[in-house]
Amino acid sequence: MSSHSESWRRSLLRPVLSKLKPYVAGKGFLEISRKYGLKPETIIKLGSNENPYGPSPKVAEAMAAVSPERYPEPEELIAGIAAYTGFPEEMIIIGAGMDGVMDTLTRLFLDTGDRTFIPTPTFSYYEILTVTAGATPVLSPRGSDFKAPESIPPGTKMAFLCSPNNPTGNVISEDEVCALLDSTEAIVFLDEAYVEFADKSLIRLVEQYDNLIVGRTLSKAFGLAGMRLGYAIAPEWIADQYRRAAPPFYAISCASVAAGTAALSDLPFMRRAAEKIRSERERLQKATGAHPSQANFLYLETSQDSREYVERFLSKGIIIRDCRSFWGAGENHVRVTVGTPSENDRFLSAFQEI
Ligand code: PMP
Repeated sequence: MSSHSESWRRSLLRPVLSKLKPYVAGKGFLEISRKYGLKPETIIKLGSNENPYGPSPKVAEAMAAVSPERYPEPEELIAGIAAYTGFPEEMIIIGAGMDGVMDTLTRLFLDTGDRTFIPTPTFSYYEILTVTAGATPVLSPRGSDFKAPESIPPGTKMAFLCSPNNPTGNVISEDEVCALLDSTEAIVFLDEAYVEFADKSLIRLVEQYDNLIVGRTLSKAFGLAGMRLGYAIAPEWIADQYRRAAPPFYAISCASVAAGTAALSDLPFMRRAAEKIRSERERLQKATGAHPSQANFLYLETSQDSREYVERFLSKGIIIRDCRSFWGAGENHVRVTVGTPSENDRFLSAFQEI
């Protein structure tokens, strides 16, 4: 094996890589089981905003009938999204998770020197995508009650709004979004990953604004995080360009198409799960004094350092999320996903103890 110098490596890698920190995901069963010597089945995972009820039973059936030797055919999936959202197929774009959708979208719009606008704290992948594109993220701290700033600075190419916002759980109102849209020439990406747990969606605004894209996912309320399937509703001019820049087969799989199509065909299942999560969320919120939330998680302030606080839960086999990796969340916040009633009981008894 020939061994090149460090400067040779640096000369090949894109300089923007030095500005990137890896995406920090919630911790997994295996990691915690190994670290603390706990049996995986005794661990409860409330750190990644997953849905503990999983998908409709129709999903397993559909996945068993998949032909893995064939490339995926997304037509039925797109028809299912059209029926669910009420938008025409021409306005629907799909990808490997909403992450995959955003990845392709940033390839449409962001170049070296461009700026994105990101109210913080929020989902960190917006910043990673911006930096990867060679663009500059303008991180703008949220105000009281985590309200997003009222205007988007001139010169912004893309703005990322998240509602309900991860990790704070609050929503942005229709009036606020319209005011932002009216005041900017930028592309506004409104991330509604958690909208099925909220009172209201703003998806219909895409009919009125040709610079608005609303992102959605099957990872949360539909219980398909492991299948990596997301979509967005975009004005037709953007959706057309998306299809040029997207990876072959949108980087989805036969399994994810089958799972997504089946999950969308059983909306009552999804709605029942979302309802159970909402009612448990209210119970947990009252018991913990967390900030009000319209998502499937709660944002909690801790009196001690959040890293130590999380560690004490982890050692009991309860995975919650330290928010210090969220820019602007400081060192005293954790995020707790709403689980099943028995998981939430276990969390609450540890919460009282800790
Ligand atoms: N947006 C937000 C706000 C999220 O929290 C997540 C999941 N962590 C995503 C997008 C990405 O979701 P997906 O699983 O569809 O890639």
